[in-house]
Amino acid sequence: MKRREFVHKTSMVAVGIGSLPVLSCTNDPTQKEQSSTSTTPTFTLPDLPYDFSALAPNIDARTMEIHHDKHHAGYVKKLNAALQDHPLAGKNLMDILASIKDQNADVGVRNNGGGHYNHSMFWKIMKPGGSAMSPELKTALMSTFNSKEAFEKAFAAAAKSRFGSGWAWLSVDQDKNLFISSTPNQDNPLMKQIVEKPGTPILGIDVWEHAYYLNYQNRRGDYIDNWNNIINWEQVSKNYTEAIS
Ligand code: MN
Repeated sequence: MKRREFVHKTSMVAVGIGSLPVLSCTNDPTQKEQSSTSTTPTFTLPDLPYDFSALAPNIDARTMEIHHDKHHAGYVKKLNAALQDHPLAGKNLMDILASIKDQNADVGVRNNGGGHYNHSMFWKIMKPGGSAMSPELKTALMSTFNSKEAFEKAFAAAAKSRFGSGWAWLSVDQDKNLFISSTPNQDNPLMKQIVEKPGTPILGIDVWEHAYYLNYQNRRGDYIDNWNNIINWEQVSKNYTEAIS
């Protein structure tokens, strides 16, 4: 078996075990630890943890298929190409994103590294029917936003007001406090030398038109509102626990 094939099959197994820790999985850029014996990083496309149609009607199957198989796959391919003979090659993706310095340098690594990280998180924090958050995260969310409804309102406002393509985030800052922000393109709060407020994202919504246009056309607000039905708060809670530890 070729190495690439092996990595792919390994990642499929890792995705298959769902909620179990996958710290050693080279295919999961949302984890801090990334084991690799090679100096040439080969990032791979993670499988969706559910069928393309699983999130319908909130997100339709065709959108999910194109989003995962074409858009995310493209980011992975271009990221690997951008890292060829690059000084950041061999680092894990979180460190790579933290290393990106300004608006013009490393545009291929920035856009495609961000794209790979963001989408890898995005698939995991959605689930058919959603799921419940941990008491720990609930306490933090209430203390920051007063109510879940107030959080949803503030988060939706950040997502709806992002001009053009980008993301809205719920993140943990260096003082372990929650905050909402939004970033353009494929930037994210891990790009600490670029973003207005750095942090560790635990929840993010993709508001690029490719994430919703087939079903919602110009109605980004409806997509954002319906997205609340499919948030995998259990996974977001795990992201929170990891971010504050
Ligand atoms: Mn996207």
